Amino acid sequence: METKLFSKEEYGKAAAILKKGGIVGIPTETVYGLAANALDGEAVAKIFEAKGRPQDNPLIVHIAELSELDDLVAFVPPVVYDLADAFWPGPLTIILDKSPIIPDEVTTGLDTVAIRMPSHPVARQIIKAAGVPLAAPSANTSGKPSPTTAEHVMHDMAGKIDAVVDGGPCEVGVESTVITLATRKPKLLRPGRVTPDELEEVLGDELIIDDAVLGKLKEGERAASPGMKYKHYSPSSDVKIVRGSFVGFVDFVNQRAAEADGVAALVFDGEESKLDCKTLLFGAEGDDLAHASKLFDALRTCDDEGIKELYVRCPSDEGVGLAVMNRLLRAAEYNIIEV
Ligand code: AMP
Ligand code: MG
Repeated sequence: METKLFSKEEYGKAAAILKKGGIVGIPTETVYGLAANALDGEAVAKIFEAKGRPQDNPLIVHIAELSELDDLVAFVPPVVYDLADAFWPGPLTIILDKSPIIPDEVTTGLDTVAIRMPSHPVARQIIKAAGVPLAAPSANTSGKPSPTTAEHVMHDMAGKIDAVVDGGPCEVGVESTVITLATRKPKLLRPGRVTPDELEEVLGDELIIDDAVLGKLKEGERAASPGMKYKHYSPSSDVKIVRGSFVGFVDFVNQRAAEADGVAALVFDGEESKLDCKTLLFGAEGDDLAHASKLFDALRTCDDEGIKELYVRCPSDEGVGLAVMNRLLRAAEYNIIEV
C-alpha cells in the first residue's frame, strides 16, 4: 500500500479515507495518533495489525464535542463535566463504563472505554469532517518511542497505512494523562501534561496514583492500564538513566566513551561541551515541558544514528516531569545508575 502524505489543509482527504474504513496518522497536541472510525471494528483491527500492537491493549476514542460523549459511555458521572471544563479540549483521557456501540476491538473486550477530546486544530477538523469518533493509539510501531512528527510516523508506518496528515511537531510530546473514573475513587493510570496537582484542583484529594506510574509491575501483577505492562518507548540502543551530580555524570560517561564505541548522552542545555561523546539536548535543567517535548525525538535519533548506549541526565519527576520519568523508566527498563 502506498502511504499518502497530506498537508494539514488536506484534512478533508484524510476524513474521507476514515469514513471508508481506512487508517490515517493524525497530529494531536500530545503525539501523532493512528486513527480509525471507532464505531467500525474492522477498521480498528487494522490499527493493531499496522502497529503490531498486543491484542489486549485498548485504544483511546477521540471526540471533537462534549455532546458526542453520551452515546459512547454507559453513564456520565457529574465530575466528568468539571474535568471537561478544566481540561477539554486537551491532553486528558478519561476512562468510563462503555456503551454497547463501542466495538470490542476498541476496548479489547473490557467493559470500559477511554475518551479524549484533543485540542489540536487539525485533529479536531479531521474528527468533525469524518463525522464519527476516532479510535487512535500512538502512531508508532508497538514498543518504539511514540511519534512526535509526521516524519516519525512515516518512518514506522510507510506502506502499512493509508495516509499521514502533517500538522507539524507535537507541542506536548508525551501521551495524554489517563485517569479512570470506573473505579471507586478516581485513579491516575498514566501521567501526562495534565499533572496530579492540576487534577486534584478539580477532584479534591480523592485522586489515587497507580503503583505502575513510577514502579515496575511485579511478576504476574495485573495492569490497571494494559499499556503500562509492555516494554515501551525503547530505541534499539541501551538506555540508562544516570542520577547524581553533573560532575559525577561527566566522569562516568566520559570514562565509558573512552572504553566503548557508540556512546551518547542526553544532557541539559549548556552541558554538552563537557562531554567527550555525541550529545543530544533535553532542554534547560528543570524545564519539564521542554524535556517532555524532546524525549521521544531524542530516543528516535539514537536509533537513526546507530547509538549503542545512551546515558540520560535524570530529570526531576515534579510536574510534567512525572510523565517524562514514567516514559524514561520504561525506555531504560528501570535501569538507574547512581553517581
Ligand atoms: P496509546 O494511545 O498508544 O498511548 O495507548 C492508550 C493507552 O490508554 C494505553 O496505555 C491503554 O492501556 C490505555 N487505555 C485505553 N483504554 C483503556 C481502558 N478501557 N482501561 C484502561 N486503560 C486503557
Ligand atoms: Mg502508544
